[in-house]
Order: sequence, then structure tokens, then C-alpha cells
Amino acid sequence: MLEGKTAIVTGASRGIGRAIALELAKKGAYVVVNYNGSGEAADEVVKAIETAGGQAEAYQCNVADGKACEKLINDVIGRRGKIDILVNNAGITRDNLLMRMSEEDFDVVLGTNLKGAFHTMHFVSRYMLKQRSGRIINMASVVGVAGNAGQANYAASKAGVIGMTKSAAKELASRGITVNAVAPGFIETDMTGKLSDKVRDQASAQIPMGAFGKPEDVAKAVGFLASEDAGYITGQVIHVDGGMVM
Ligand code: NAP
Repeated sequence: MLEGKTAIVTGASRGIGRAIALELAKKGAYVVVNYNGSGEAADEVVKAIETAGGQAEAYQCNVADGKACEKLINDVIGRRGKIDILVNNAGITRDNLLMRMSEEDFDVVLGTNLKGAFHTMHFVSRYMLKQRSGRIINMASVVGVAGNAGQANYAASKAGVIGMTKSAAKELASRGITVNAVAPGFIETDMTGKLSDKVRDQASAQIPMGAFGKPEDVAKAVGFLASEDAGYITGQVIHVDGGMVM
């Protein structure tokens, strides 16, 4: 259980991040529900946590902005005294074939998915090092392992997240801080809601379990990695994908 722990979940206003915020709060953590543009949705997540007897707050921060991430981490430390769990979940897609992909589409996806996780880890690590404890969980994707046509930018960002996770795990292990990644396959959220029926059918055909996963499937894995029970697991990439990539 996570009583007395403070957690930050980036991109927690919707989808997988929302489910992670609810799961960590259910386990007893105080959850900072980060969002970028969806303030009302983030407030609704906080309300849902409070209705269930948990504690949370909404916090606007664009993770692609380093200064804003520094303020997020310092504000939470200022009010809570510590950050025990950081979940870098915020992510976006700007899909296109390589020859049509603009430099801006490349930069904006890398800026949010990869650099966003760098910013929060960079600023939180100094506090976790002093505490000599912490859990960092980064949202990767099976696409970062296997690649995907039309997602060169997204795949590069998620492969980067995996490399950064393993490097940080090696740097921080001796101070009791674990750093792991979770790699979802196809999960039912707004992100996959954009896919055409044809793409959905093709995707389902590649999943041994035959169906898309739910945000809660990913949240359960994150809840485990954030717990005391996962204390000897670091630098790993846990696939939550119905067997899609193995
Ligand atoms: P989603 O439904 O589109 O939600 C994305 C979340 O990220 C929203 O809460 C959004 O907040 C937030 N966000 C986006 N840009 C942000 C920024 N610059 N700063 C702070 N927050 C930001 O996506 P999802 O499907 O839940 O995906 C969550 C994570 O899982 C992503 O990293 C994604 O790459 C990964 N993933 C998803 C799947 C899948 O099948 N769905 C598969 C593999 C990996 P606002 O709405 O407030 O902007």
C-alpha cells in the first residue's frame, strides 16, 4: 500500500494517466494530477479520487517546458516535503509517413514524450537522491521496441524513453531509487480512438489476446512498480500488451 506517499502523474487528466492516478490514490497515495490543457477533466479526476476517500490535487504544467517542470517539482516539494513516486505518462502522437513528416511534428512529439520525461526526472532526482528512496515509472510503448510504420517520431521518442529509463536506473539504484518503464500495446483511450476501423481491425489481429487493453490494465502494472513489493526491480520494461510484442 502507498499510505503517506506523494505521487506525481503527468498527463493524468485522461486515458491511462487518469487510471494510474485513481489506482495510486486507491492504494493510499496523495496524487498530483498533472494536465496541460484539460483542466476540467483533471478536476473531475480529483473529485473522483476524493469521492472514493482519497487525496489529490490538479496541477497545470506543460511537461515540454523545462522551467514549468522545475516549478511543478519545487511546488510539490514545498507543500508536501517529498515526492516518492513520479509517473511520466504524458504523451502525444503526430503520425505520418517519414517522407511526409514535418520537422515540427518530429520535434513536438520528442519534446513532450522524451524531453518531458527528462525534465521531470532531472528535477525530481536531486530530491529523491537526498531522500535515498523513490520510484520513477516512465510510459514507453511497444512501438518503441518494435517500431511502427507512420510513427517514426513516436517510436523514436518511446525508444528514447526506454534508453533513458535504463540509464537512470543504473545511476540511481545505489540510492534506493528504482526506475522502470511500462510498454502498453493498444489501449482504449482518446489516443487510439482516432484510429480508423480498418486500422483497429488490423491491430486487433496482431494481439494474441484478441482485443485492445483498458487503461486499468496499465494502471495495475504501474501500481505494482510503485509499491514496496517491486523494490528489487529496476531498469525493466514491463509490456502490458495482450502478448502483442514478445
Ligand atoms: P491520451 O488519452 O491522449 O491522454 C494524454 C494525456 O497526456 C492527457 O492527460 C494530456 O493532458 C496529457 N498531455 C499531453 N501533452 C502534455 C503536455 N505537454 N504536458 C502535460 N500533459 C500532457 O493518451 P493515452 O492513450 O492515455 O496515453 C498515455 C501514455 O501512454 C502516453 O505516453 C502514450 O504514448 C502511452 N501509450 C498509449 C497507448 C495507447 O494505446 N493508448 C499505447 C502505448 C503507449 P491534456 O489533455 O490536459 O493536454
